[in-house]
Amino acid sequence: MTESVQSPAELSSLDYRLDSYAGLLRSFRDAGYEFGRFEDGRPAAGEILLRHDIDLSLDRALAMAERERELGVRSTYCVLLSAPAYDLTRPRNLRLLGRIADLGHDLALHFDTHRYWSTTADPGRAIIEAKVTDELDVLGRLLGDQPSTVSFHMPPDWVLDRAFEPFANTYAPAFFDDIGYRSDSSQKWRSAAPFDEGLPDRFQLLVHPGLWHAAHRPMAEIVGDHRRRSHSQVDDYFAPLSEAADEQ
Ligand SMILES: [Zn+2]
Repeated sequence: MTESVQSPAELSSLDYRLDSYAGLLRSFRDAGYEFGRFEDGRPAAGEILLRHDIDLSLDRALAMAERERELGVRSTYCVLLSAPAYDLTRPRNLRLLGRIADLGHDLALHFDTHRYWSTTADPGRAIIEAKVTDELDVLGRLLGDQPSTVSFHMPPDWVLDRAFEPFANTYAPAFFDDIGYRSDSSQKWRSAAPFDEGLPDRFQLLVHPGLWHAAHRPMAEIVGDHRRRSHSQVDDYFAPLSEAADEQ
C-alpha cells in the first residue's frame, strides 16, 4: 500500500444507506487496510480505527454491527451512560449492547463533559479522570465487563490531543493528531467526499450509526423522529402523576 491511494468510486460523496457504508468498508479492505483496536495503542501503517458514537439509537448500532460482522470488520461502539435517546438500565438495551459485543466489537464509554462542566473552563486532569472513571465503573457494572476506551461527546478543546492515564482517549494524539481522522458528522459526506485527498496510511474513522438506514433519510427527519419518541416517553412518565394530582 502506498502512502495515499487514489480514491475509488465508493469514496466519492455518498448517501447514508447501510449499503453505501458497506461499499465504503469494502473499498478499505480492497485497498489492503485492516481494522485495529484502541486498546492496542497507535495504529500501525495500514490500520483503521473504526469508531461509532451512539448518540441516537442502539438499534441502529446493532444493525451496523451486524453488517460489519458480515464483512469481517471490527469496530468500537461508544455508548452514553445517560442520554435522552436511550436508557441503559433497560434490560432490552443492555441485551442489544451484549449482542454487539458478541459480534466481536469493542464497547467503550461515550462521555458527555457538558453534563458536568462548561465548555470553556478546563476542570483539570485529575477531576476529568475521576469523573470519567466513575462512569467507566458504572458502565462496567452494567455490561459485566469494564471498557478501557473513552470518546468525548461534542468534545471541548481541552480533551483534544490530550492523553489520560486511566483510559484511552480517542482524541489523544496517537489516535487523532498524529494520524488521519475523518468523521461522517451531520451527514456531510452527502455533499463532500470523505477522502478527497486519498486515504491516509493510517486513520481513525468516526461513523454515527444513527445516521445510516436501509434507505437514505435526511438528518432533520431522523433527529425529528428521535425527538418525538423521547417526548412521548416524557409524556408517559408525567401523565399518571398529573392524573394523581388532579384527583387530590
Ligand atoms: Zn456524541
